[in-house]
Amino acid sequence: MKIKNVYIEASALDLPETQRFLHRIGLPPVVIQHHNELYEIIKQASDPCSAGKQNLLLTRNQGPFLRQCPGTREYICCGYNILNFATYCTMDCAYCILQSYFHPPVLQYFVNQDELWKELDHALAQPRTLRVGTGEFTDSLIWEPWSDLTPGLIDRFANQTHSVLELKTKTTAIDRLKGLRHHRKTIISWSLNTPRVIATQERATTSLHARLRAAAQCASWGYPLAFHFDPIVLYPGCEKEYEEVIQTLFEHVGADNIVWISMGTFRFMPALQTIVQKRFAQSDIVYGEFVPGLDGKMRYFKPLRIDIYRRMVAAINEYAPDTTVYLCMEDEHVWLKSFGFAPEAKGGLPAMLDQSAIRHCGLVACT
Ligand code: SF4
Repeated sequence: MKIKNVYIEASALDLPETQRFLHRIGLPPVVIQHHNELYEIIKQASDPCSAGKQNLLLTRNQGPFLRQCPGTREYICCGYNILNFATYCTMDCAYCILQSYFHPPVLQYFVNQDELWKELDHALAQPRTLRVGTGEFTDSLIWEPWSDLTPGLIDRFANQTHSVLELKTKTTAIDRLKGLRHHRKTIISWSLNTPRVIATQERATTSLHARLRAAAQCASWGYPLAFHFDPIVLYPGCEKEYEEVIQTLFEHVGADNIVWISMGTFRFMPALQTIVQKRFAQSDIVYGEFVPGLDGKMRYFKPLRIDIYRRMVAAINEYAPDTTVYLCMEDEHVWLKSFGFAPEAKGGLPAMLDQSAIRHCGLVACT
C-alpha cells in the first residue's frame, strides 16, 4: 500500500534521520505533539489496519531497540534477538499477526538511531553469539527507498566475528545489498509459501519465483541465505504444493548456502479472526480445524501439524540432508514425531542454530 501521509512527533523533528527520511519520501509532513493524536485518527478509521499502512509516523522509540524474542515457556524457543527499528508493514497479508498485535497497528519508523547504534554496539561487544533479526515487527526491506539503516547494519555486523544479522523479507528490494562489505555476517532470508497462498492471502507481496530469483542474486553476491515456511496453511492438496515449492527453492539456490530453514503452521490469537473476516472476506484461513494452544493461540490439531512437517522435512532432506531445519514454537512431542529427535539431544535449539551460523557465516564460537 502507498503511504499517503507522514506525521512527525515534535520531539523527533530535528533528528538527522528524520530530515533524511523526509527528504527521500517527498511528502509534506504533519507535525504532532504526541503520537496519540495519530493513534486516535487510525482508531477511528473504518478499517484501522489499512489506515495504519497509509499513515507513517516518524518518532522516537521509547523502549529498547534490542530485545530477546519473548517466546513462551510451553514451546521450544530459538533464542532469537529482535532489533526493533520500525513497526508494521506496507504489504498486507491476511494472516499477519501485526494487525492485532499493535493497538492501533501503524507504520512507525524510529528516528532516534543514535540510541539504536549504542545498544547494538554494546551488545556486539559482549563475548556471546547473537542471532539478531529486524523482521519481527516489520518487513526488513520495505524501508529501503527512504532509509540507510540496512547498509549501516550490514557494515556493523561485518566488523565483528561472533554474531549474525538476519534480514527477513517478502520483497525483492535487494538492489542496495550489491557490493556491500558483509563478510557473510548478514543472512538474507525470505518467507516462502505456495503460489496459491501467496495469491490469495498475501496482498502486495512478490511472487514465489521473484523471491527465489532475488535469493539467487543475493547468493551470487556472497550472502548466506535462510528461508521460512511460516505460516504453513493447510488446505486440500497443500502437501503436494509445499513439496513443489521446496523443489522450486532448490532449483534456484544451492543447499550449501542455506543457514537454516524454519517451519511453522498457521497460528493466531483469537482477536485476529474478526479482523481477517472483515478485511479479507474471500479468505478461508481462519475456518480450519483449530484448537487453542498453551499460549492462547489457535493452532491446527496436532496430528495435522505433524503430518505436514513430516512431509516437508522428507522433501527438504531429498535436496539438503545437512541443512538445519527447525520448527517455530512447537513442543518436544511435535519435534520428536516430525524429525525423530528433540533439540535437547543436540544441545538445544539455540545451540543448533548458533552452530549452523558458525558453520555457514564463519563465526568465531564464544565459549
Ligand atoms: S509481509 Fe509480514 S509484516 Fe508484512 S503484512 Fe505480510 S506478514 Fe505482515
